[in-house]
Amino acid sequence: MPLKSHGLTQARGYVKVCCLVGGCMCTLSDCVRVCVRTVSPLTGTVLLVFAKEDSQNNGFCWACEKANFRCNVARTPEAALECFKEKHHDLVIIDHRHSRYFDAESLCREVLLIHFYLNGFVDLFGVCCCRPDREEASVMPLIKSGFNRRYVENANMMACYNELLQLERGEVLAQFKLRACNAIFTALEQSQEAIEITNEDQVIQVGFNYSVVVEFVLMFPGSSQRRHSSMARIHSMTIEAPITKVINIINAAQESSPMPVAEALDRVLEILRTTELYSPQLGTKEEDPHTNDLVGGLMTDGLRRLSGNEYIFAAKQPHLPSHLAMPLSLNDIPPHVAQTMENEDSWDFDIFNLETACLKRPLTYLGLKIFSRFGVCEFLSCPEATLRSWLQGIEANYHSTNSYHNSSHAADVLHATAYFLCKERVKQSLEQIDEVAALIAATVHDVDHPGRTNSFLCNAGSELAILYNDTAVLESHHAALAFQITTRDDKCNIFRNMERNEYRTLRQAIIDMVLATEMTKHFEHVNKFVNSINKPLAGIGDEESVKGILTSPDNRILVKRMLIKCADISNPCRPLELCIEWAGRISEEYFAQTDEEKRQSLPVVMPVFDRNTCSIPKSQISFIDYFITDMFDAWDAFADLPNLMQHLDNNFKYWKGLDERKLHSLRPPPE
Ligand code: AMP
Ligand code: ZN
Repeated sequence: MPLKSHGLTQARGYVKVCCLVGGCMCTLSDCVRVCVRTVSPLTGTVLLVFAKEDSQNNGFCWACEKANFRCNVARTPEAALECFKEKHHDLVIIDHRHSRYFDAESLCREVLLIHFYLNGFVDLFGVCCCRPDREEASVMPLIKSGFNRRYVENANMMACYNELLQLERGEVLAQFKLRACNAIFTALEQSQEAIEITNEDQVIQVGFNYSVVVEFVLMFPGSSQRRHSSMARIHSMTIEAPITKVINIINAAQESSPMPVAEALDRVLEILRTTELYSPQLGTKEEDPHTNDLVGGLMTDGLRRLSGNEYIFAAKQPHLPSHLAMPLSLNDIPPHVAQTMENEDSWDFDIFNLETACLKRPLTYLGLKIFSRFGVCEFLSCPEATLRSWLQGIEANYHSTNSYHNSSHAADVLHATAYFLCKERVKQSLEQIDEVAALIAATVHDVDHPGRTNSFLCNAGSELAILYNDTAVLESHHAALAFQITTRDDKCNIFRNMERNEYRTLRQAIIDMVLATEMTKHFEHVNKFVNSINKPLAGIGDEESVKGILTSPDNRILVKRMLIKCADISNPCRPLELCIEWAGRISEEYFAQTDEEKRQSLPVVMPVFDRNTCSIPKSQISFIDYFITDMFDAWDAFADLPNLMQHLDNNFKYWKGLDERKLHSLRPPPE
C-alpha cells in the first residue's frame, strides 16, 4: 500500500504521519480506518434525528452552523440510518421527547451497531439525546442504550452551541485520539523506520493534545538522527505485537461503551491475556474419574509434585547395540519376516505379527522397508548401511521391557505416518523434506521412554525433569537423544552428507514434530489445525486458493504436527484386535506406574489406573471421547480416512458393550 496516498509521506528515510488540519479519513488496510487531525477548527458532522421541525431542532441547526459543523436532519429512524450509513457522522443527536414518533433507544443501538460495522470496532462515539427535564429519572437506561449524554430540552441557541462544543471536545476528540493512535500503529506496521508525528508544516507535535500519541512520541525523544537507535526498534517491536494492539484498542473502546459491551469486553480481555489461546482450560473437573485421571496424568507436568524420591532413570548413556555391525539390508531380511510386512502399505497391517517374527525388533525391519519406499536414503544421500545402523541404534534405545512404549509402538507410529503421507491432501501439502522429517520423527519420537509419564518424572524429581525444568520433559529428551545417537558416530549418521542449510531445516522439522506429541499441547495443535486449515478449506472451492492454504509454510507445520499426533494415538482407530492389544499394553504400563508410585509413596497421578480396580473399557471410552473423536474428525475431514473412522466407531461400540455389561477386562469372559 503506498503510504503517500494516505497522507503519509516518506522523506529522508523517515515516515511522516501528517496531522492534517481539517481532518483526513483514509483507509490503510481493509480493517483500519485512520483519522488524524488537530484539535481545531471544529469541522465535525452531525446528524439530527427529529421527527418534527420545532424550536429545539432549529436551535441545534443554528448551533451547528455557528460551530462550523456540517449537519443533516432526518425525520424517521429509517432515513436516519440511511443517512448515517452514507455520511458516518461524528455526532448523532436523537430526539427522545416524543415516544409516539419513534423509539430513540433502539435507534441509538442500531446506529451504534452500524458504527461498529463501519469501523471494525466499537470506538468512542458521540451520541446525545434530547429529553425534557426529568430530574428524578436515572440516566442508566440511556447509557445502556449507548447514549453518551443527556441533553435537557432547551431551545436556547447558545445552550445548543455549548452542548455541541462539549461533545466535540469530549467524545469526539477522544475518538480522534484513538484514530490518530491507530494511524500511527498502522504506519509502524508499514515502516521499518522511526515515525515522526508532525503537523502540516512538518513541525513535530510533541506537546499537542493527543495524550496517547504524546506517550508514543516520548518514546522517541531527541533529534531525528537518534530515532534510528535500537531503542526505537525495540519499542516499535513492542508496539507491533498484534495482541498489544488489540488490547489497546479494546481498552480505549471500553471507556465509552455502554455497560454490557464494556463488561463483555472485560471478559474478552481476560481471555486474550492468557497465553494459551488455543488450549481449553482444564479448571473444571470432569464428571468421569477416568477422564479426570487421563487429563491430569497426560496433560500436566506433575503439578502435584513432591520433592525427594529420585526416580532412577533407566538408561543414562545411550545404548550401543552390539549387533550394529551385523549385515542387514532389505535383501537380507529373512523371508518369514519379509512375509509379515507384505501388506505394510495397508491400514490393517498387523504389527504384532511382525513383532513376533523379528523377535521384538520391528522398527529396524519396517523402517528399512518404509524408508526405502519413500526414497529416504536418496534424499539424504546416505548409504543404506548407514540407515540400517541408524535404525538399529535408535531401536536399541527403546526399552523392550516397557509394555507399551517400546519399539513396536515406534514402528506402529512409523507405519501410521507412512500411511497418512500417502493421502492425496497430505501429498498436496507436503514436500519431500517434510515426508522425510515425518518418517524420522515417527521413528525416534519416544526413544528411551522410561514407561512413566511426564507427571511421574516431575513428581519424582528425576534427572530428566530437572534437566528440562519440568517442561515437555520426555519429548525434549526423545528429540535431543535422537540427535545424539545419530551424530555421535559416523557409521549411523544419516545426516552426514546433507548440505548444512537443508540439514538445519530438516532438524527443525523433526524437533517440532517430536515436541508436538506432548499431550499438554493436544488441544492447541488440534484447534490450530481446524482454524487455520479445515475451516478455510471448507469455505473455498477454486484450486488456486486450496493450494495456497495447503502449502503455506505455517500450515505445512500444522499439517505435520497433526499428522504425527494422529499417528501417535491412532491405536483406537486400528482394527479391533489390534486396538484391544494396544489398550491392554497401555493399561499395563499405567498400572506399573501406579504400583511404583504407591511403592515409593509418590503422588498417584492416575488413581483409576489401579490394576485391582480399573475398568479398562471405561478408560478407553474416556480416552476416545476426550482425545480421539474430535481430533480424528478433523483429520478425516482433511485427509479422508473412512476406514479409520469405521474402526473407531466399531471399537468404541465394543468398549461400550463391555462397559454396559459392567465388565472391567479387555475382553468378555469365554462363553
Ligand atoms: P506418546 O507417549 O508419544 O505415545 O503419547 C501418547 C499418549 O497417549 C501417551 O501418554 C499414551 O499413554 C497415551 N495413549 C495412547 N494410547 C492410549 C490408549 N489407548 N488409552 C489411553 N492412553 C493412551
Ligand atoms: Zn508415542
